Amino acid sequence: MDAPMDDTPAPAYVIRGDTGDWEVVIGLEVHAQVVSQAKLFSGASATFGGAPNSHVSLVDAAMPGMLPVINRVCVEQAVRTGLGLRAHINHRSVFARKNYFYADLPQGYQISQYELPVVGEGTVILDMPDGSSRAVGIERLHMEQDAGKSMHDQHPTKSFIDLNRAGVALMEIVSKPDMRSPEEAGAYLRKLRSILRYLGTCDGNMEEGSMRADVNVSVRPVGSTELRTRCEVKNVNSVRFVMQAIEVEAARHVEIWEAGREVTQETRLFDPGRGETRSMRGKEEAHDYRYFPDPDLLPLEFDDAFVEGIRATLPELPDDKKARFIQDFGLTPYDASVLVVDRREADFFEAVAQGSDGRRRDGKTAANWVISTLFGTLNKRGLGIDESPVSAENLGKLIDLIADDTISGRIAKDVYEIMVETGEAPDRIVEERGLKQVTDTGAIEAAIDAVMAANPDKVEQVRGGKEKLLGWFVGQVMKQTQGKANPGMVNELLRKKMGLLDA
Ligand code: MN
Repeated sequence: MDAPMDDTPAPAYVIRGDTGDWEVVIGLEVHAQVVSQAKLFSGASATFGGAPNSHVSLVDAAMPGMLPVINRVCVEQAVRTGLGLRAHINHRSVFARKNYFYADLPQGYQISQYELPVVGEGTVILDMPDGSSRAVGIERLHMEQDAGKSMHDQHPTKSFIDLNRAGVALMEIVSKPDMRSPEEAGAYLRKLRSILRYLGTCDGNMEEGSMRADVNVSVRPVGSTELRTRCEVKNVNSVRFVMQAIEVEAARHVEIWEAGREVTQETRLFDPGRGETRSMRGKEEAHDYRYFPDPDLLPLEFDDAFVEGIRATLPELPDDKKARFIQDFGLTPYDASVLVVDRREADFFEAVAQGSDGRRRDGKTAANWVISTLFGTLNKRGLGIDESPVSAENLGKLIDLIADDTISGRIAKDVYEIMVETGEAPDRIVEERGLKQVTDTGAIEAAIDAVMAANPDKVEQVRGGKEKLLGWFVGQVMKQTQGKANPGMVNELLRKKMGLLDA
Protein backbone atom coordinates (compact mmCIF):
# COMPACT_ATOMS: atom_id res chain seq x y z
CA MET A 1 0.00 0.00 0.00
CA ASP A 2 1.45 3.38 -0.98
CA ALA A 3 0.68 6.67 0.72
CA PRO A 4 -1.37 8.88 -1.57
CA MET A 5 0.79 11.28 -3.53
CA ASP A 6 -0.10 14.89 -4.07
CA ASP A 7 0.83 16.35 -7.43
CA THR A 8 0.55 20.00 -6.51
CA PRO A 9 3.98 21.59 -6.74
CA ALA A 10 5.73 22.53 -3.50
CA PRO A 11 5.47 26.16 -2.50
CA ALA A 12 8.72 27.26 -4.05
CA TYR A 13 11.62 28.32 -1.88
CA VAL A 14 12.99 31.20 -3.87
CA ILE A 15 15.96 33.41 -3.07
CA ARG A 16 15.33 36.87 -4.49
CA GLY A 17 18.61 38.28 -5.76
CA ASP A 18 19.49 41.54 -7.50
CA THR A 19 19.66 39.84 -10.91
CA GLY A 20 16.61 37.59 -10.49
CA ASP A 21 15.20 34.62 -8.57
CA TRP A 22 17.31 31.61 -7.57
CA GLU A 23 16.41 28.12 -6.46
CA VAL A 24 18.48 25.83 -4.27
CA VAL A 25 19.46 22.25 -5.16
CA ILE A 26 20.10 19.99 -2.17
CA GLY A 27 21.40 16.45 -1.80
CA LEU A 28 22.14 14.77 1.54
CA GLU A 29 24.67 12.13 2.51
CA VAL A 30 23.69 10.66 5.85
CA HIS A 31 26.06 8.54 7.92
CA ALA A 32 23.91 6.28 10.08
CA GLN A 33 25.47 4.07 12.74
CA VAL A 34 24.28 0.48 12.44
CA VAL A 35 22.58 -1.03 15.49
CA SER A 36 24.74 -4.08 16.30
CA GLN A 37 26.57 -5.54 19.27
CA ALA A 38 29.96 -5.70 17.56
CA LYS A 39 31.89 -3.63 15.03
CA LEU A 40 31.85 -4.16 11.25
CA PHE A 41 35.07 -6.21 11.05
CA SER A 42 35.88 -7.11 14.68
CA GLY A 43 34.21 -8.51 17.79
CA ALA A 44 34.82 -5.36 19.87
CA SER A 45 31.77 -3.69 21.41
CA ALA A 46 30.02 -1.09 19.28
CA THR A 47 28.29 0.47 22.32
CA PHE A 48 28.33 4.28 22.56
CA GLY A 49 30.52 5.75 25.33
CA GLY A 50 32.75 3.71 27.64
CA ALA A 51 36.19 4.72 28.95
CA PRO A 52 38.48 5.86 26.07
CA ASN A 53 40.04 2.94 24.20
CA SER A 54 38.08 0.31 26.16
CA HIS A 55 36.24 -1.00 23.05
CA VAL A 56 39.23 -1.64 20.82
CA SER A 57 40.39 -4.94 19.37
CA LEU A 58 43.73 -5.55 17.66
CA VAL A 59 41.91 -5.29 14.31
CA ASP A 60 40.50 -1.85 15.19
CA ALA A 61 43.96 -0.67 16.24
CA ALA A 62 45.36 -1.98 12.90
CA MET A 63 48.08 -4.07 14.49
CA PRO A 64 50.35 -5.77 11.92
CA GLY A 65 48.94 -9.01 10.56
CA MET A 66 45.39 -8.45 11.78
CA LEU A 67 42.67 -9.31 9.28
CA PRO A 68 39.07 -8.04 9.07
CA VAL A 69 36.18 -10.52 9.37
CA ILE A 70 32.78 -9.33 8.16
CA ASN A 71 30.00 -9.10 10.77
CA ARG A 72 26.94 -10.83 9.30
CA VAL A 73 24.50 -8.86 11.47
CA CYS A 74 25.76 -5.54 10.07
CA VAL A 75 25.26 -6.82 6.51
CA GLU A 76 21.71 -7.93 7.36
CA GLN A 77 20.99 -4.52 8.85
CA ALA A 78 22.19 -2.78 5.66
CA VAL A 79 19.99 -5.02 3.49
CA ARG A 80 17.06 -4.47 5.85
CA THR A 81 17.54 -0.71 5.54
CA GLY A 82 17.72 -0.98 1.74
CA LEU A 83 14.42 -2.85 1.69
CA GLY A 84 12.86 -0.21 3.98
CA LEU A 85 13.99 2.47 1.51
CA ARG A 86 12.26 0.53 -1.32
CA ALA A 87 15.68 0.20 -2.87
CA HIS A 88 17.35 -2.25 -5.19
CA ILE A 89 19.50 -4.76 -3.28
CA ASN A 90 22.71 -5.60 -5.13
CA HIS A 91 23.27 -9.34 -4.86
CA ARG A 92 26.97 -8.78 -5.32
CA SER A 93 28.88 -5.94 -3.69
CA VAL A 94 32.54 -5.22 -3.00
CA PHE A 95 34.47 -3.61 -0.15
CA ALA A 96 37.07 -1.04 -1.22
CA ARG A 97 39.87 0.80 0.50
CA LYS A 98 39.56 4.57 0.59
CA ASN A 99 43.07 5.82 1.27
CA TYR A 100 43.70 8.93 3.32
CA PHE A 101 45.53 9.96 6.44
CA TYR A 102 43.78 10.83 9.68
CA ALA A 103 45.41 10.69 13.10
CA ASP A 104 42.38 8.70 14.34
CA LEU A 105 42.39 6.24 11.41
CA PRO A 106 45.16 3.78 12.30
CA GLN A 107 44.83 1.68 9.13
CA GLY A 108 45.66 4.65 6.92
CA TYR A 109 42.57 3.79 4.90
CA GLN A 110 38.86 3.37 5.50
CA ILE A 111 37.18 0.15 4.40
CA SER A 112 34.15 1.36 2.45
CA GLN A 113 32.29 0.44 -0.72
CA TYR A 114 32.81 2.27 -3.98
CA GLU A 115 31.74 1.00 -7.39
CA LEU A 116 29.53 -1.81 -6.11
CA PRO A 117 27.59 -0.74 -2.99
CA VAL A 118 25.29 -3.16 -1.17
CA VAL A 119 22.15 -1.10 -1.95
CA GLY A 120 21.25 0.80 -5.14
CA GLU A 121 18.45 3.21 -6.03
CA GLY A 122 15.41 3.73 -3.79
CA THR A 123 12.83 6.28 -2.66
CA VAL A 124 11.91 8.23 0.47
CA ILE A 125 8.47 9.88 0.62
CA LEU A 126 8.42 13.23 2.42
CA ASP A 127 5.41 14.25 4.50
CA MET A 128 5.21 18.03 4.26
CA PRO A 129 3.57 20.18 6.97
CA ASP A 130 0.73 21.14 4.59
CA GLY A 131 -0.25 17.47 4.32
CA SER A 132 1.22 16.97 0.84
CA SER A 133 3.83 14.34 -0.10
CA ARG A 134 7.00 14.42 -2.25
CA ALA A 135 9.37 11.71 -3.41
CA VAL A 136 13.14 12.01 -2.97
CA GLY A 137 15.38 9.55 -4.79
CA ILE A 138 18.01 7.48 -3.00
CA GLU A 139 21.18 7.07 -5.07
CA ARG A 140 22.82 4.34 -3.02
CA LEU A 141 23.57 2.96 0.43
CA HIS A 142 27.01 1.60 1.21
CA MET A 143 28.64 0.15 4.30
CA GLU A 144 31.85 1.52 5.77
CA GLN A 145 33.84 1.79 8.99
CA ASP A 146 33.74 4.78 11.28
CA ALA A 147 37.01 6.45 12.37
CA GLY A 148 38.16 7.11 15.95
CA LYS A 149 38.04 10.45 17.72
CA SER A 150 40.87 12.95 18.33
CA MET A 151 40.62 14.74 21.67
CA HIS A 152 42.32 18.12 21.79
CA ASP A 153 41.01 19.26 25.17
CA GLN A 154 42.64 16.71 27.49
CA HIS A 155 46.18 18.09 27.69
CA PRO A 156 47.78 21.52 27.16
CA THR A 157 50.24 20.39 24.50
CA LYS A 158 49.14 16.94 23.37
CA SER A 159 46.24 15.49 21.42
CA PHE A 160 44.80 12.17 22.53
CA ILE A 161 43.07 9.52 20.42
CA ASP A 162 40.04 7.44 21.44
CA LEU A 163 39.55 4.45 19.16
CA ASN A 164 36.24 3.24 20.66
CA ARG A 165 34.37 4.35 17.56
CA ALA A 166 37.03 3.11 15.12
CA GLY A 167 35.59 0.27 13.06
CA VAL A 168 31.96 0.75 14.11
CA ALA A 169 29.65 -0.03 11.16
CA LEU A 170 28.12 2.89 9.31
CA MET A 171 25.61 3.04 6.48
CA GLU A 172 26.22 5.98 4.19
CA ILE A 173 22.86 6.81 2.63
CA VAL A 174 23.21 9.11 -0.39
CA SER A 175 20.17 10.95 -1.74
CA LYS A 176 19.76 12.31 -5.24
CA PRO A 177 19.87 16.13 -5.50
CA ASP A 178 16.07 16.18 -5.35
CA MET A 179 15.38 18.63 -2.53
CA ARG A 180 14.58 22.29 -3.19
CA SER A 181 14.17 23.91 0.23
CA PRO A 182 15.46 23.70 3.81
CA GLU A 183 11.98 22.42 4.78
CA GLU A 184 12.26 19.49 2.37
CA ALA A 185 15.74 18.64 3.70
CA GLY A 186 14.34 18.72 7.25
CA ALA A 187 11.40 16.53 6.26
CA TYR A 188 13.79 14.10 4.53
CA LEU A 189 15.97 13.72 7.62
CA ARG A 190 12.99 13.25 9.91
CA LYS A 191 11.46 10.66 7.60
CA LEU A 192 14.73 8.80 7.15
CA ARG A 193 15.22 8.74 10.93
CA SER A 194 11.68 7.47 11.40
CA ILE A 195 12.19 4.63 8.89
CA LEU A 196 15.55 3.61 10.42
CA ARG A 197 13.97 3.50 13.88
CA TYR A 198 11.03 1.41 12.68
CA LEU A 199 13.52 -0.99 11.12
CA GLY A 200 15.73 -1.03 14.22
CA THR A 201 18.83 -0.54 12.07
CA CYS A 202 19.95 2.83 13.54
CA ASP A 203 18.83 4.53 16.75
CA GLY A 204 18.75 7.91 14.98
CA ASN A 205 20.17 9.84 17.96
CA MET A 206 21.72 12.81 16.20
CA GLU A 207 22.99 14.31 19.46
CA GLU A 208 25.07 11.17 20.11
CA GLY A 209 26.32 11.29 16.53
CA SER A 210 24.55 8.09 15.39
CA MET A 211 23.15 10.08 12.47
CA ARG A 212 25.21 12.84 10.84
CA ALA A 213 24.47 14.65 7.63
CA ASP A 214 26.75 16.03 4.93
CA VAL A 215 24.76 18.62 3.02
CA ASN A 216 25.44 19.30 -0.68
CA VAL A 217 24.17 22.71 -1.75
CA SER A 218 24.18 24.58 -5.05
CA VAL A 219 21.95 27.27 -6.56
CA ARG A 220 20.69 28.07 -10.05
CA PRO A 221 18.40 30.63 -11.65
CA VAL A 222 14.72 29.63 -11.32
CA GLY A 223 13.67 27.81 -14.47
CA SER A 224 17.17 26.51 -15.26
CA THR A 225 17.96 22.80 -15.12
CA GLU A 226 21.75 23.11 -14.95
CA LEU A 227 23.68 21.87 -11.93
CA ARG A 228 26.14 24.52 -10.77
CA THR A 229 29.19 23.96 -8.57
CA ARG A 230 28.16 22.61 -5.18
CA CYS A 231 29.69 22.84 -1.74
CA GLU A 232 29.49 20.16 0.89
CA VAL A 233 28.75 21.21 4.46
CA LYS A 234 30.21 18.42 6.58
CA ASN A 235 28.93 16.59 9.67
CA VAL A 236 25.88 18.61 10.64
CA ASN A 237 24.30 16.97 13.67
CA SER A 238 20.75 18.24 14.01
CA VAL A 239 17.77 18.74 11.72
CA ARG A 240 17.57 22.40 12.66
CA PHE A 241 21.25 22.99 11.90
CA VAL A 242 20.92 21.27 8.51
CA MET A 243 18.09 23.64 7.61
CA GLN A 244 20.03 26.69 8.83
CA ALA A 245 23.22 25.58 7.03
CA ILE A 246 21.31 25.30 3.73
CA GLU A 247 19.82 28.76 4.14
CA VAL A 248 23.13 30.51 4.75
CA GLU A 249 25.10 28.44 2.24
CA ALA A 250 22.57 29.06 -0.55
CA ALA A 251 22.53 32.79 0.18
CA ARG A 252 26.35 32.80 0.02
CA HIS A 253 26.29 31.15 -3.43
CA VAL A 254 23.78 33.65 -4.80
CA GLU A 255 25.95 36.51 -3.60
CA ILE A 256 29.04 35.04 -5.30
CA TRP A 257 27.33 34.36 -8.64
CA GLU A 258 25.67 37.77 -8.68
CA ALA A 259 29.03 39.45 -8.03
CA GLY A 260 30.26 37.80 -11.24
CA ARG A 261 32.54 35.38 -9.38
CA GLU A 262 32.58 31.56 -9.32
CA VAL A 263 31.68 29.24 -6.45
CA THR A 264 34.63 26.95 -5.68
CA GLN A 265 33.89 23.30 -4.98
CA GLU A 266 34.96 22.69 -1.40
CA THR A 267 34.12 21.14 1.95
CA ARG A 268 32.80 23.59 4.53
CA LEU A 269 31.83 23.55 8.21
CA PHE A 270 28.68 25.09 9.67
CA ASP A 271 29.13 27.25 12.76
CA PRO A 272 25.71 27.42 14.43
CA GLY A 273 26.88 30.07 16.89
CA ARG A 274 27.76 32.54 14.12
CA GLY A 275 25.19 31.26 11.64
CA GLU A 276 27.76 30.90 8.86
CA THR A 277 29.72 28.24 6.95
CA ARG A 278 33.53 28.33 6.75
CA SER A 279 35.90 26.71 4.30
CA MET A 280 37.48 23.54 5.72
CA ARG A 281 39.37 22.14 2.76
CA GLY A 282 39.25 21.94 -1.01
CA LYS A 283 36.89 19.15 -2.07
CA GLU A 284 38.68 15.98 -3.05
CA GLU A 285 37.69 14.05 -6.14
CA ALA A 286 37.05 10.34 -5.83
CA HIS A 287 40.34 9.54 -7.62
CA ASP A 288 42.28 11.34 -4.89
CA TYR A 289 41.42 8.49 -2.56
CA ARG A 290 42.96 5.77 -4.79
CA TYR A 291 40.04 3.42 -4.17
CA PHE A 292 40.73 -0.23 -4.87
CA PRO A 293 38.99 -3.49 -3.88
CA ASP A 294 40.12 -4.58 -0.42
CA PRO A 295 42.21 -7.72 -0.93
CA ASP A 296 41.48 -8.87 2.65
CA LEU A 297 37.74 -9.24 2.04
CA LEU A 298 35.76 -11.38 -0.36
CA PRO A 299 32.92 -9.76 -2.32
CA LEU A 300 29.53 -10.04 -0.59
CA GLU A 301 27.21 -12.38 -2.46
CA PHE A 302 23.55 -12.88 -1.54
CA ASP A 303 21.09 -15.42 -2.85
CA ASP A 304 17.36 -14.65 -3.08
CA ALA A 305 16.59 -16.65 0.05
CA PHE A 306 18.87 -14.39 2.12
CA VAL A 307 17.20 -11.19 0.89
CA GLU A 308 13.66 -12.57 1.02
CA GLY A 309 14.28 -13.94 4.50
CA ILE A 310 15.05 -10.40 5.67
CA ARG A 311 12.11 -8.92 3.75
CA ALA A 312 9.79 -11.32 5.58
CA THR A 313 10.76 -9.76 8.93
CA LEU A 314 10.10 -6.12 7.98
CA PRO A 315 7.54 -4.33 10.17
CA GLU A 316 4.73 -2.22 8.74
CA LEU A 317 6.62 0.97 7.79
CA PRO A 318 5.47 4.59 8.27
CA ASP A 319 4.11 5.10 4.71
CA ASP A 320 1.96 1.97 4.85
CA LYS A 321 0.80 2.75 8.37
CA LYS A 322 -0.11 6.28 7.31
CA ALA A 323 -2.16 5.00 4.36
CA ARG A 324 -3.91 2.52 6.63
CA PHE A 325 -4.72 5.18 9.26
CA ILE A 326 -6.23 7.41 6.55
CA GLN A 327 -8.22 4.51 5.14
CA ASP A 328 -9.36 2.82 8.36
CA PHE A 329 -9.77 5.72 10.75
CA GLY A 330 -10.69 8.55 8.36
CA LEU A 331 -7.70 10.68 9.40
CA THR A 332 -6.34 13.61 7.40
CA PRO A 333 -2.96 12.93 5.73
CA TYR A 334 -1.38 15.45 8.08
CA ASP A 335 -2.73 13.87 11.30
CA ALA A 336 -1.81 10.41 10.02
CA SER A 337 1.76 11.51 9.22
CA VAL A 338 2.17 13.03 12.69
CA LEU A 339 0.93 9.86 14.38
CA VAL A 340 3.18 7.43 12.46
CA VAL A 341 6.52 9.23 13.01
CA ASP A 342 7.19 7.09 16.08
CA ARG A 343 6.11 3.47 16.08
CA ARG A 344 5.18 3.43 19.77
CA GLU A 345 3.11 6.60 19.39
CA ALA A 346 1.33 5.05 16.39
CA ASP A 347 0.60 1.94 18.46
CA PHE A 348 -0.72 4.12 21.28
CA PHE A 349 -3.08 5.94 18.92
CA GLU A 350 -4.29 2.67 17.51
CA ALA A 351 -4.99 1.30 20.98
CA VAL A 352 -7.05 4.44 21.72
CA ALA A 353 -8.95 4.38 18.42
CA GLN A 354 -9.52 0.64 18.47
CA GLY A 355 -10.96 -0.27 21.87
CA SER A 356 -9.81 -3.52 23.50
CA ASP A 357 -13.36 -4.81 23.07
CA GLY A 358 -12.87 -4.46 19.32
CA ARG A 359 -15.26 -1.53 19.21
CA ARG A 360 -13.89 1.18 16.94
CA ARG A 361 -14.04 4.75 18.25
CA ASP A 362 -14.26 7.84 16.09
CA GLY A 363 -10.77 8.12 14.58
CA LYS A 364 -10.67 11.90 14.24
CA THR A 365 -11.74 12.36 17.87
CA ALA A 366 -9.09 9.88 19.01
CA ALA A 367 -6.43 11.61 16.85
CA ASN A 368 -7.36 14.99 18.33
CA TRP A 369 -7.05 13.76 21.89
CA VAL A 370 -3.70 12.07 21.19
CA ILE A 371 -2.11 14.84 19.09
CA SER A 372 -3.46 18.03 20.64
CA THR A 373 -4.03 17.00 24.23
CA LEU A 374 -1.81 14.04 25.12
CA PHE A 375 1.27 15.04 23.03
CA GLY A 376 0.87 18.52 24.56
CA THR A 377 1.00 17.05 28.07
CA LEU A 378 4.01 14.85 27.24
CA ASN A 379 5.89 17.77 25.64
CA LYS A 380 5.24 20.05 28.59
CA ARG A 381 6.55 17.40 31.01
CA GLY A 382 9.39 16.17 28.81
CA LEU A 383 8.00 12.61 28.80
CA GLY A 384 8.11 9.91 26.13
CA ILE A 385 4.98 8.00 25.14
CA ASP A 386 6.16 5.04 27.24
CA GLU A 387 6.03 7.28 30.31
CA SER A 388 2.58 8.67 29.58
CA PRO A 389 0.65 9.19 32.84
CA VAL A 390 -2.54 8.41 30.90
CA SER A 391 -2.83 4.92 29.42
CA ALA A 392 -4.31 4.29 25.97
CA GLU A 393 -7.08 2.26 27.56
CA ASN A 394 -8.08 5.11 29.90
CA LEU A 395 -7.95 7.74 27.16
CA GLY A 396 -10.23 5.51 25.09
CA LYS A 397 -12.64 5.20 28.03
CA LEU A 398 -12.70 8.98 28.43
CA ILE A 399 -13.70 9.35 24.77
CA ASP A 400 -16.49 6.81 25.35
CA LEU A 401 -17.79 8.79 28.33
CA ILE A 402 -18.17 11.87 26.12
CA ALA A 403 -19.65 9.89 23.24
CA ASP A 404 -22.40 8.36 25.38
CA ASP A 405 -23.16 11.72 27.11
CA THR A 406 -22.01 10.54 30.53
CA ILE A 407 -19.93 13.72 30.78
CA SER A 408 -19.82 16.95 28.80
CA GLY A 409 -16.80 17.98 26.72
CA ARG A 410 -16.12 20.67 29.30
CA ILE A 411 -16.09 18.26 32.26
CA ALA A 412 -13.95 15.87 30.16
CA LYS A 413 -11.11 18.40 30.19
CA ASP A 414 -11.23 18.43 33.99
CA VAL A 415 -11.39 14.63 34.16
CA TYR A 416 -8.38 14.45 31.82
CA GLU A 417 -6.36 16.76 34.08
CA ILE A 418 -7.19 14.53 37.07
CA MET A 419 -6.16 11.47 35.02
CA VAL A 420 -2.79 13.13 34.29
CA GLU A 421 -2.24 13.86 37.99
CA THR A 422 -3.48 10.55 39.44
CA GLY A 423 -3.29 8.01 36.60
CA GLU A 424 -6.78 6.87 37.61
CA ALA A 425 -9.41 5.51 35.22
CA PRO A 426 -11.90 8.16 34.01
CA ASP A 427 -15.05 6.21 34.89
CA ARG A 428 -13.83 5.95 38.47
CA ILE A 429 -13.00 9.66 38.64
CA VAL A 430 -16.44 10.55 37.29
CA GLU A 431 -18.15 8.18 39.71
CA GLU A 432 -16.18 9.17 42.82
CA ARG A 433 -16.39 12.89 42.23
CA GLY A 434 -20.00 12.82 41.04
CA LEU A 435 -19.20 14.44 37.69
CA LYS A 436 -21.86 12.67 35.66
CA GLN A 437 -23.70 14.98 33.35
CA VAL A 438 -27.33 15.49 34.42
CA THR A 439 -29.47 14.76 31.37
CA ASP A 440 -32.47 13.70 33.39
CA THR A 441 -35.18 16.18 32.37
CA GLY A 442 -36.96 15.90 35.71
CA ALA A 443 -33.88 16.80 37.74
CA ILE A 444 -33.09 19.78 35.53
CA GLU A 445 -36.70 20.96 35.61
CA ALA A 446 -36.72 20.75 39.41
CA ALA A 447 -33.62 22.94 39.58
CA ILE A 448 -35.18 25.44 37.16
CA ASP A 449 -38.41 25.55 39.13
CA ALA A 450 -36.51 26.24 42.33
CA VAL A 451 -34.54 29.11 40.79
CA MET A 452 -37.66 30.61 39.17
CA ALA A 453 -39.67 30.34 42.43
CA ALA A 454 -36.93 32.16 44.34
CA ASN A 455 -36.73 35.00 41.80
CA PRO A 456 -40.27 35.90 40.68
CA ASP A 457 -39.30 39.52 39.88
CA LYS A 458 -36.58 38.42 37.43
CA VAL A 459 -38.96 35.90 35.84
CA GLU A 460 -41.36 38.79 35.18
CA GLN A 461 -38.57 40.84 33.60
CA VAL A 462 -37.66 37.99 31.23
CA ARG A 463 -41.28 37.51 30.26
CA GLY A 464 -41.51 41.27 29.77
CA GLY A 465 -38.87 41.04 27.06
CA LYS A 466 -35.55 41.25 28.95
CA GLU A 467 -34.17 38.07 27.38
CA LYS A 468 -30.63 38.96 28.38
CA LEU A 469 -31.49 37.84 31.90
CA LEU A 470 -31.82 34.25 30.62
CA GLY A 471 -28.06 33.85 30.85
CA TRP A 472 -28.23 34.66 34.54
CA PHE A 473 -30.88 31.93 35.00
CA VAL A 474 -28.72 29.38 33.15
CA GLY A 475 -25.83 30.27 35.45
CA GLN A 476 -28.01 29.78 38.56
CA VAL A 477 -29.28 26.38 37.37
CA MET A 478 -25.74 25.24 36.56
CA LYS A 479 -24.72 26.32 40.05
CA GLN A 480 -27.59 24.33 41.56
CA THR A 481 -26.40 21.23 39.70
CA GLN A 482 -22.66 21.76 40.38
CA GLY A 483 -21.98 22.36 36.69
CA LYS A 484 -23.18 18.91 35.70
CA ALA A 485 -26.44 19.79 33.97
CA ASN A 486 -26.32 19.49 30.21
CA PRO A 487 -26.14 23.21 29.25
CA GLY A 488 -28.10 22.72 26.01
CA MET A 489 -30.96 21.11 27.90
CA VAL A 490 -30.95 23.80 30.61
CA ASN A 491 -31.29 26.46 27.95
CA GLU A 492 -34.08 24.73 26.14
CA LEU A 493 -36.12 23.89 29.24
CA LEU A 494 -35.70 27.40 30.63
CA ARG A 495 -37.01 28.96 27.44
CA LYS A 496 -39.93 26.61 27.49
CA LYS A 497 -40.84 27.42 31.09
CA MET A 498 -40.47 31.13 30.47
CA GLY A 499 -42.86 30.80 27.56
CA LEU A 500 -40.25 31.89 25.04
CA LEU A 501 -40.49 28.73 22.91
CA ASP A 502 -43.38 27.65 20.81
CA ALA A 503 -44.55 24.46 22.40
MN1 MN B 1 31.41 8.20 4.20
